[in-house]
Amino acid sequence: MTDLSAPVRLHDGVSMPRIGYGTYKVGDDEAQEAVEAALATGYRLLDTAEMYGNEVGVGRAVAASGVPREEVFLTTKLWNDHHGADAARAALETSLERLGTDYLDLYLIHWPSPKQDLYVETFAALLKAKEEGLIRSAGVSNFLPEHLERVHEGTGEWPTVNQVELHPYFNQAGLRAWQSERAIATESWGPLGQRTGSVLDERAVTAAAQAHGKSPGQVVIRWHLQNGCIVIPKSAKASRIAENFDILDFALTDAEMTAIDGLETGKRQGIDPGGTER
Ligand code: NDP
Repeated sequence: MTDLSAPVRLHDGVSMPRIGYGTYKVGDDEAQEAVEAALATGYRLLDTAEMYGNEVGVGRAVAASGVPREEVFLTTKLWNDHHGADAARAALETSLERLGTDYLDLYLIHWPSPKQDLYVETFAALLKAKEEGLIRSAGVSNFLPEHLERVHEGTGEWPTVNQVELHPYFNQAGLRAWQSERAIATESWGPLGQRTGSVLDERAVTAAAQAHGKSPGQVVIRWHLQNGCIVIPKSAKASRIAENFDILDFALTDAEMTAIDGLETGKRQGIDPGGTER
């Protein structure tokens, strides 16, 4: 059985923690305190993005935390107005500056933005940055198989990670299996399924929480790990930052996993990555 406390080994040999701290909607002013709390709790994977506007605060937290930079797995993302080789390179340099670091552990293309049709060139720019040592690993976010196939055809490489909307209401079983066959790691965003409806109030979740003496949030985070996903819950509250990390001392049974899998609706809560909105 997989040791869920051990990092995932990506297909390029880089090791990535399975649980991280997400920072969407954590403002730049509150990011330093929140990220310092996450690092003090034990999180080593941090997930930010150019679009979140908090890279400066995240970088300050890493510097102030006392945790050596090489022990932190820092991820940021390139926004949609920086597709294309030159723009991608410039965006990376600006993110590095804001984060106060000279390398990223993982750089993601935030959305494929198919209407621009530049994501293959953009991914090639990420691979070049990897060769130069500016990033350790090159990945993507919100890519569909058709986008991943084109990246592979155009560059000869699969992204190491695809960070996608994934929670019990939209569990991406098909994409997970497809990616697993190609050694692409799946990272879940919006993991608690809180955007429309509440996964945390579902009977399948609350019953498992009661059975294990855990909270509904902890049950859902554990469900991601047992499904082989990397997961990055966000909370601005110190108590939940700690709670969401405390998920290694229990295991969901097969029946509990199946019951939570059964919450699938087939509906996204976020934007369709194949559409023209982004
Ligand atoms: P999450 O699923 O992490 O949910 C966050 C919400 O749940 C917040 O309102 C938080 O409130 C609440 N919450 C957190 N922990 C608990 C708990 N234990 N019990 C009850 N409620 C809880 O959603 P996000 O959208 O933030 O996704 C996580 C991360 O994924 C983001 O922060 C970001 O890093 C990434 N992301 C990536 C996207 C992409 O396009 N690549 C898109 C969206 C997110 P409170 O803060 O008050 O605790």
